[in-house]
Amino acid sequence: MSSAYPRLTIRLFRPKPSMPVNVLNLPGLRVLDFKETDTDYHVKAAPTIVSKLCPHCGRSNETVAHAQKTLFIRDLPSHGKSVAVHLDVPRLRCKPCGKTFTAAVPEVDTARQMTERLAKWVGRQGLEYTYAEIAKQVGIDEKTVRNVFDEYVAELEKEFTRETPVWLGIDEIKLGRFRAVFTNIQGRSLIDMLPDRYGTSITSFLYSLPNKERITHVATDMWRPYRIAVQQALPNAKLVVDKFHVVSKANASFDAVRRSIGNQDKKRHSLGLKRAHKLFAKRQRDLDDEQHLTVSGWLNSFPLLAAAYDLKERLYKVYEVETKEEAWGEYLVWEASIPEELAKPFRPVKTAFRNWKTYILNYFDDERVTNAFTESFNAKIRRVYRDGRGYTFERLRAKVLFTDRLQKRVPIQEKVKVKKKPKFEEVGMARMYLMTHLVCEERAEYEIRTQTRQGNLGTDLSTLEALLDSGQF
Ligand SMILES: [Zn+2]
Repeated sequence: MSSAYPRLTIRLFRPKPSMPVNVLNLPGLRVLDFKETDTDYHVKAAPTIVSKLCPHCGRSNETVAHAQKTLFIRDLPSHGKSVAVHLDVPRLRCKPCGKTFTAAVPEVDTARQMTERLAKWVGRQGLEYTYAEIAKQVGIDEKTVRNVFDEYVAELEKEFTRETPVWLGIDEIKLGRFRAVFTNIQGRSLIDMLPDRYGTSITSFLYSLPNKERITHVATDMWRPYRIAVQQALPNAKLVVDKFHVVSKANASFDAVRRSIGNQDKKRHSLGLKRAHKLFAKRQRDLDDEQHLTVSGWLNSFPLLAAAYDLKERLYKVYEVETKEEAWGEYLVWEASIPEELAKPFRPVKTAFRNWKTYILNYFDDERVTNAFTESFNAKIRRVYRDGRGYTFERLRAKVLFTDRLQKRVPIQEKVKVKKKPKFEEVGMARMYLMTHLVCEERAEYEIRTQTRQGNLGTDLSTLEALLDSGQF
C-alpha cells in the first residue's frame, strides 16, 4: 500500500550549518542552499514530499523515479527583493502507461513556475497595482501576472454570487469602448460589467443568471442588441426604455442646434455657447437666478436656439402624465409642434420614439422603472479610468465588483415549499400507496415555511460613489 504523497528521499544537497534553515517558511520545501544579490534571493530547495500520482492515467502506486529536474520557481518577494527558488524535483515514470511526468510538489504551481501563495498574492495585488508594477516586484513577466489575475478574478466571481434582481437595469459605460453594465434597480446596486456590449455577450450573460424567471422588468436604453437579447433570454420580462435615455435624445438634438449656431458665428458666439452647454443640459426649473439669466440671454439672441430649447423642455411633459394613452397623446402634440427648420436635428428623437414606442410607454404600466441612478456612477468611474492610474477595464471591474466593503448584503426572506413529514399513522398508508402508484408531486402534502438567508445584491452604488469621491479608490 502506498499513500498519495509518499516520501522520497533526495540526498543531493546537505544543508550547511550556517544557513537559514527555513528561509522560505514553506513546510513542503527543504532549503538546501541560499544566496543573496542586490535584487534577488536565490534559494536552492527540494520537496520534502511529492505526489507520485500519474497525471496521464491516474494510477499512483506504480511509478518509478528515473531522472531529476531543476525547476525555477518564483516566490513572494521578501525584504524588497524578488525570491527565486531552484527546486530539484524528480521525474517519474508510470509503469502501467509508460509515460513520464514531473512529480507534483505541494504548495507549488509547477505549470506557473511559482508557489501557490505567490499566485494568491499576485491575484490580490492585481486589484491595487498595474501588471507591470507587480511583474517587476516579483520578477515575472506581465503576461503571467495577467493570467494569474484572471484566474483570481474567476475565483472571486464564484465567491461573490449576486441575487438576480426583480428589476434589471442594462446600461453601458464608455471605458475605452462601450461596456455593458447590469444593475439591480430596486437595490441600487451593480451586478456586473462586461468587456463589451455585443448581443451575444448580453444574451449569454442573461442566460447565466440564476433564477432568471424572477426578473419581471428590464430597463435599457435604445440599443437594439439589448432588446433582442432580453426578448430571447427573458421572454416573460417587460422591457422598459429608460426615461433618462429618451429625454437625453432631445438634449442631443438641442446640442446639435447649439453647435451649428456656434459654427455660423465662430468669432462672437462659439465659445460662449460652448461654455453654457452644461446649463442648457439642465432642466429649466433647476436653474438658479444667475444661470437663468445666462440661458435666457442666449435664447433671446437666437430664436432658433430658443425653439430647440423649448422642444427639449417640453419633451419631459410626456413623462408628467399618468397613463400610456395620455403619454402617447402628449408625444404626438410634441411631435406636431416641431418647426420645420428643426425637423432635421430633432429627427433622431422622432425615430427613436416611433421605433421604441411600446417599450417607452411600458414605463406607464405598474411601477415607474428607471435606471437613471447609474448615471452619476458612470461619470465618476470614467474619471477614475481616465486619470492615468493605469487601470485596465478588467482591473477596474474586479475592484468595483469584488471589494468586500462595497457589497450590499441584506437578509432575504424566502418562502420555501417543503414536504410535510407524514404523521406516524399515515406512514403505513403512504407506503401502501407508493407500492401501487407513482406519487404525484401535487398529491404530496407541502407546507410553506419562511427562511431567512444572507443575500448579496451587488456593489452598493452610493458607497462606491462616496469612495470614488474621497479619492481612496
Ligand atoms: Zn500512468
